[in-house]
Amino acid sequence: MRILFVAPEGVPFSKTGGLGDVIGGLPKELAALGHEVAVLLPRYRDTKIQPTVVHASLTVPVGQSLRFPAVVGGFVRDGVRYDFLDDPESFDRDTLYGGPAGDYPDNPERFAEFARAALEYAKLIWRPDIFHCHDWQTALLPVFLKTLYAADPAIGRIPTVLTIHNLGYQGLFDRAVLGRIGLPERLFQIDGMEFYGRVNFLKGGILSTDWLTTVSRGYAEEIQTPEYGCGLEGVIRRRADRLIGILNGVDYGAWNPETDRLIPARYSAADLSGKQACKRDLLERFGLPVENPSPLLAGIISRFVDQKGFDLLAEAAEQLLEEDLQIVALGTGMPEYEEFFRELAARYPRRVGVRIAYDNVLAHGIEAGADLFLMPSRYEPCGLNQIYSLRYGTLPLVRATGGLEDTVEGYDPKSGHGTGFKFREYKAESLVACMREASRAWKEPKTWARLQRTAMARDFSWRASASQYAELYEKAKRERIPSAAASSVK
Ligand code: ADP
Repeated sequence: MRILFVAPEGVPFSKTGGLGDVIGGLPKELAALGHEVAVLLPRYRDTKIQPTVVHASLTVPVGQSLRFPAVVGGFVRDGVRYDFLDDPESFDRDTLYGGPAGDYPDNPERFAEFARAALEYAKLIWRPDIFHCHDWQTALLPVFLKTLYAADPAIGRIPTVLTIHNLGYQGLFDRAVLGRIGLPERLFQIDGMEFYGRVNFLKGGILSTDWLTTVSRGYAEEIQTPEYGCGLEGVIRRRADRLIGILNGVDYGAWNPETDRLIPARYSAADLSGKQACKRDLLERFGLPVENPSPLLAGIISRFVDQKGFDLLAEAAEQLLEEDLQIVALGTGMPEYEEFFRELAARYPRRVGVRIAYDNVLAHGIEAGADLFLMPSRYEPCGLNQIYSLRYGTLPLVRATGGLEDTVEGYDPKSGHGTGFKFREYKAESLVACMREASRAWKEPKTWARLQRTAMARDFSWRASASQYAELYEKAKRERIPSAAASSVK
């Protein structure tokens, strides 16, 4: 099988969130299973590669004009081929999708160019059996394929898989964008890309793709409901027979306390003493006192956005801090949440530490040094940090939603079973009650150590998930449905 990943970001070349981690992990696992895999990414300013030219100039129409991006890279790493679309005017920028002032206004053109260039790349450079696209930024690939390229004898019938990593980001633009990116005006209809008077890239992708996946089984169910469907629940329900949830794996090569070189001491389930050293170091880095007996230390690593449950945390903070608790938080995002953490740290200087930054080394430090990992998300397609936390023996306290529900087993004091703590209702009082339960368990060192050992033994490596993707690709390739039948966007 030849699988082409077309993605807007991928570790170690570019990353803003979990999608980048997936593109860093899944392709190499598929290669290890014996598949031929190529990854096509945009070349951003921070993409560190040798820009060896693979193809000097593709011809890519974007609306009324032509763009001529190069393809660079062409190297193989961990069995995967990597290529980069190089168009400085579109992608040589400090950030991937936009800055503090908002998204880049030419995002529709940038990602229309990328999606279309990926089709030209498939024709001229690396012909796949399957296109695997990711999120709204590449959702136009199946739309182009099922419209303008439908009759192309070379690639017109190659099946597509589209993975939704986060339905909260859909690529919504004004109607005029259709003309600007060269898609026919007839797609502006309810069964096409129209969405409440605007153009929705992800909706186009959902209706056009052969198969749709999302990153946990729980989230695959949730996005069919009004509460989580972000207005697309009806569209997704229409494609329910083509939707499957496959949990993300994690890269234990990078996230494993036994081998992690980014933390001050290594440790394992058999010998947790190194974790104490990590905790001391973490408290010192945040300028918090090291006390004896040690209060429960909760860690947060997150984008500071509504999705992650910070309104709930803000509401519950005072009550949470009535417990014998310390909190360290790392993140950047919405100014009001950055301010909330700054204020909380100022009010509780011995209890709360905050770092407004994106800092991978400190993220490892928190995973290793904290006792508890706090992730009260409003919704969570998969979530990675709670999975890392399990392996680091840092018990996750999560809201039971999406991937959090699927990966964390809530502690049951009666049976003693569990790998973390869960609450269901999106209410401050539920979060507080859950924290009280965690505090009680913390005060029973034997119970806590047992939960840690159970958590550390859980395995969410890519192997199992990669096999599920491979099965799906095989199925998609076998059926090779005529393009018209697969699509509602005609
Ligand atoms: P999302 O994709 O919604 O941001 P995930 O939990 O799936 O959430 O993935 C987040 C990834 O980004 C993790 O690898 C996490 O460690 C990393 N991350 C998020 N914020 C920061 C930060 N401020 N500093 C370092 N790493 C971060």
